[in-house]
Amino acid sequence: MTANVLFAGRPDGWPVYEPLLKTELARLGVDADLRTEFAPEEVDYIVYAPSGPVSDFTPFSRLKAVLSMWAGVEKIVPVVPAAVPLTRMVDSGLERGMTEWVVGHTLRYHLGMDVHILGQNGHWKPKAPPLAKDRSVTVLGLGALGTASAKALAALGFQVSGWSRSQKDIAGIACYSGAEGLKTALAQAEIVILLLPDTPATENTLNAETMALLPKGARIINPGRGPLIDDAALLAALDSGQVGHATLDVFRVEPLPPEHPYWAHPNVTVTPHIASETRESTAAEVIAENIRRAEAGETLLHLVDRSLGY
Ligand code: NAP
Repeated sequence: MTANVLFAGRPDGWPVYEPLLKTELARLGVDADLRTEFAPEEVDYIVYAPSGPVSDFTPFSRLKAVLSMWAGVEKIVPVVPAAVPLTRMVDSGLERGMTEWVVGHTLRYHLGMDVHILGQNGHWKPKAPPLAKDRSVTVLGLGALGTASAKALAALGFQVSGWSRSQKDIAGIACYSGAEGLKTALAQAEIVILLLPDTPATENTLNAETMALLPKGARIINPGRGPLIDDAALLAALDSGQVGHATLDVFRVEPLPPEHPYWAHPNVTVTPHIASETRESTAAEVIAENIRRAEAGETLLHLVDRSLGY
């Protein structure tokens, strides 16, 4: 039987995704009808983004799965009925983009680029940066994006540690879990990178107490989600010098309101949620493979654990 697939991503994504998804579904031998409009009761799969047209899932009475085009699913988990399998986006292109962004911003701090390129002001202070092997970096979150970023940093020679909910064993990375593990991971972090999901359990992971554990002057890079950081505590830590600088790509409110103190703070770099994004060609492969799996009665890839929220 033909599987009816509703594309409910951003409307401007349709001209790009339509040929890619059709090609992939055909390549995998899936008999599918892919459209941007169906009667809700005829839809089997929804390829979904919160920026798309669907917000109410109740009329979709025969849904077999919702396939998120986003990696972060905090907006999606509450709206997709619990009985409907929900997958999140794990895409090699998204992973590659995040790795490049994280490495770039880590190297900015490591090499002191602001001082040596932007802020010389006529001063001649010859002091070479240390080697990466003498710099410790901690990645909070060792999932698809955190692990890829941590491995790339380790490959450059950084001393990399990481922290996750479940204990990991990754070659070249000192892995920690649990509350005590977070303390150990932060105590050695000259640069901290946040790649945790936004869930009730991760809110304010960096707060006054945990930021006090960092070596003085530590740098923070947040491409994860805004609520991972207690903003008032970060501003206080920046003002006291406990945190030397923060590069923030994500915020509790986006776009970041013009009056927000982050914009004007001399030790904050704001980037507009551009660390990485789903790349259409590789994402289409993952979406089509999951439809094939569902039609074949196989377990879907990258299922969201609804009780954990990611
Ligand atoms: P993922 O594969 O689900 O990995 C999440 C990691 O966080 C896992 O290692 C998980 O531990 C850990 N974690 C979750 N809850 C935790 C807790 N309470 N305590 C400690 N560790 C916890 O997610 P991902 O694909 O790497 O993506 C990470 C996040 O990046 C997304 O959720 C999204 O918010 C963000 N993102 C941002 C952009 C951007 O452009 N800025 C782009 C894409 C994604 P376990 O391994 O034990 O499960």
